[in-house]
Amino acid sequence: MKDFFNIPKPTFSFEIFPPKGPTGLDSIFATVDALASLAPDLISVTYGAGGTSRENTAEIASAIQNSYSIPALAHLTCVGNSFEQMEATLADLHSRGVKNILAMRGDKSGEYALTDFQHASELIKFIKDRYDFKIFAACYPEKHLEAPSMEEDIDHLAEKVANGADVLISQLFFKNDKFYSFRDKAREAGINVPIEAGIMPVTSASQIKRMVGMCGATIPDGLAKIIETYGHNSMAMREAGMAYATAQIVDLLANGVEGIHLYTMNQPDIAKNISESIRGILYSLRVKRG
Ligand code: FAD
Repeated sequence: MKDFFNIPKPTFSFEIFPPKGPTGLDSIFATVDALASLAPDLISVTYGAGGTSRENTAEIASAIQNSYSIPALAHLTCVGNSFEQMEATLADLHSRGVKNILAMRGDKSGEYALTDFQHASELIKFIKDRYDFKIFAACYPEKHLEAPSMEEDIDHLAEKVANGADVLISQLFFKNDKFYSFRDKAREAGINVPIEAGIMPVTSASQIKRMVGMCGATIPDGLAKIIETYGHNSMAMREAGMAYATAQIVDLLANGVEGIHLYTMNQPDIAKNISESIRGILYSLRVKRG
């Protein structure tokens, strides 16, 4: 079994999301099969708003870790979890052999509220005080939507690292310069843990509108032109989106990024296309950096 923390950098990992409710596990395992054949360094499994996928996230992460022998990262949020529920969830993940947790606040929405934990940093401390999980935390190259300024957001990010975050994974972004500027500021603030770039291939015009609405990522002119030109044709848009994401990744790797985390949207063919395009590059960098 690989240990994510001993893999030479840059790492290459995937994110998947669980099916809603108890059905759909067969199809997600078909997705995991296909992704596992690409030999990623880690697969992360998202956590539905308010714990709606609590069981499925744990079950899928455990299978990835134990049956596929790929390091799994279980997402977990403050939203929807009291101290007591969090104790139970952590005990469950621990007993299932999951080693890595992406600890987040989550988004408050309707019935899903924050109760005992207000911020990810509190959850990180809570976990670190009790278990030896490796902790990942979220970061925002264009700042979190609610943060009044990048400086304040980075101060809070530093708190997450001080409380025990071992790795940061970024929100999606389409303009690498935003990531580089954020990374410089984080380093100046003394944040020295690896910062992985979260990359989402654009596959349709409606998907990008939804995503940008949710996270506020800037759409560069070049990408806007691509969407305008190819958005009417799903196959053309898909190919152009994968090419754009691949170009983003090649540039990030050339600029020393420590890891790429690909939001696969449960579409292994997209992950395969991108993985195959960068395999040689990743290999050469790993050999070079030792
Ligand atoms: P926090 O770190 O708590 O920050 C939230 C806001 O509060 C920021 O504006 C921050 O600056 C501010 N803040 C932090 N600490 C303090 C403080 N002490 N005092 C005042 N302000 C403070 N959501 C899900 O529901 N499920 C998922 O599986 C999921 N996966 C994700 C994966 C990645 C890689 C990313 C980037 C996001 C993911 N999200 C997921 C979304 C995430 O839950 C939201 O972005 C959420 O709004 C913020 O989570 P956080 O952990 O960054 O929160």
